Amino acid sequence: MSEDCLFCKIVNRQIPSEFLYEDDDCVVFRDINPHAPVHILIVPKRHIRSINDLQDGDTDLLGRLFLVAKQMAKSEGVNESGYKLLFNVEKGGGQVIFHIHLHLIGGWEKK
Ligand code: 5GP
Ligand code: ZN
Repeated sequence: MSEDCLFCKIVNRQIPSEFLYEDDDCVVFRDINPHAPVHILIVPKRHIRSINDLQDGDTDLLGRLFLVAKQMAKSEGVNESGYKLLFNVEKGGGQVIFHIHLHLIGGWEKK
């Protein structure tokens, strides 16, 4: 946990948030400023600043985030119409919250 990290506070329920999904490794909640009809964030519970800080031992965690994304796409009803999965990396890549999170964005059109 990083004490001044917003997403650590959300993960640890210091800031109330509705979780769409939670397991031992990650939580999922809606983006506060959605860029599409469906815009959710898949967030590991462990504080990792950015993709640049990933280690060899994090491969399972990363795989898990993508499998949860796949499951969420289905439960949000965008798995067949399609969606984007995105990591912003550091300031130049548009990252604003420095605790890694996978954006799932979609829902513009029905199949
Ligand atoms: P980044 O640009 O770092 O990849 O994305 C951060 C995302 O977090 C943004 O899309 C922003 O709208 C979202 N966000 C920022 N603060 C909060 C918050 O307090 N709650 C939620 N649910 N989303 C947030
Ligand atoms: Zn954090």
